[in-house]
Amino acid sequence: MIAEIIAAGSEMLTPFRQDTNSLYLTAGLNDIGISVGFKTIVGDSLEHLTGAARNALLRADIVIFSGGLGPTEDDLTREAAAAALGLTLHRDNEIITNLHKRFAERRIPMPPNNAKQADILEGAVLLANANGSAPGQFLETTFEGKRRIVVLLPGPPRELKPLFDSLVKPKLAAAMPPSFLARRELRMALIPESTVDSRTSPIYKQYADVETTILATAGEIQLHFICAKPTLEEAKARVNAVAEAIEHEMQDDIFSSQGESLEEVVLLMLGMRHLTLAAAESCTGGLLSERLTAIAGSSRYFLGGAVVYSDALKTSFAGVPPEIIEREGPVSDAVARALAEGIRQRTGASIGVSITGIAGPGPGTGADVGKPIGLVYIGIADADGTQVKELRLPGDRERIRWWAAQHALEQLRRQML
Ligand code: ATP
Ligand code: MG
Repeated sequence: MIAEIIAAGSEMLTPFRQDTNSLYLTAGLNDIGISVGFKTIVGDSLEHLTGAARNALLRADIVIFSGGLGPTEDDLTREAAAAALGLTLHRDNEIITNLHKRFAERRIPMPPNNAKQADILEGAVLLANANGSAPGQFLETTFEGKRRIVVLLPGPPRELKPLFDSLVKPKLAAAMPPSFLARRELRMALIPESTVDSRTSPIYKQYADVETTILATAGEIQLHFICAKPTLEEAKARVNAVAEAIEHEMQDDIFSSQGESLEEVVLLMLGMRHLTLAAAESCTGGLLSERLTAIAGSSRYFLGGAVVYSDALKTSFAGVPPEIIEREGPVSDAVARALAEGIRQRTGASIGVSITGIAGPGPGTGADVGKPIGLVYIGIADADGTQVKELRLPGDRERIRWWAAQHALEQLRRQML
């Protein structure tokens, strides 16, 4: 069985509001083995909503509407669902009484508009809304000879979520043949997507019952595995089997097998090894530190560091000898080395990491004249010595800065393996 979610509301067709209800609903549907085949966002137009409802009824077994159950002109979901299904709406006296009661409790007369919240689809079961005035509706019906389930839910997330969890999910689960979804995810950093795919596709293609997706984000590749089976144990066994086969192929390239971020993994590894870290950042301006400190509990392993953008601060905050900066330029192997060693010494951290580079769009200045945009050095100093890696990163300023921080994290991880 597949579901379609229709999110009603013109605000979600602007750059300012996002449809988050469908994410919540999708997670809940997946829990009970229902996958979402389509999502549609429709503005507040009866014609468009009715059209979207018809399309959904043609192609999905379950159609869930979010929003548009309020009392105003632009709340049209009931009308659209009725029109698409060819059903009439009838006004429910009990809801009218309840609406009057709600308004009476707040000591205001009920505006006549609110009466339309009592309109229910012929044959629908009402879903009481503990957190708002518009009840949801659940209808088992047929559309062009096919069995369909239609659900109407209020738009405000604080109303939709409890209503879906307590009243809709159990009803849908009861209507479904037993099926359970298991998922796993593997993450790799800084490896081209095509490389990951050519090495892993011969493996995951052997698991036809597991749906595999490759997701590439900035400097990170994620492999997602999903499998549906009559029992959760079977589904888990299959996603674990494919994940293990791929771990065997990719080995240490995989930094996370339980969904942890690269930052989290680096902090975890520091913790396991009883190590602390400090950073001296030039071109990333604190991005690496910001990413690490965004993780709760990072203070135990990440001591802090310095943003040493100017030459003078590289010397005064991280002890880089000025003659090295003058001779080699601030973007150099030697300065990255001195920065990593300097911040390690000044902070007493077990590991010092440094980033210095030319993020652009302007070219290097002073002793860095002639060096290309995207030239970045990452330094890592620990008790065993100091390693510096030279990178040539493509792209604009934002991309270069992000990737520089990403490389620093991945270098730290590999160093600690
Ligand atoms: P109301 O009685 O509040 O009008 P409603 O069922 O008519 O309820 P909408 O008018 O569509 O719902 O939406 C009310 C509010 O709920 C919106 O302003 C928005 O903040 C939130 N909302 C609606 N749809 C979504 C969605 N798909 N994702 C996230 N938030 C939503
Ligand atoms: Mg509304």
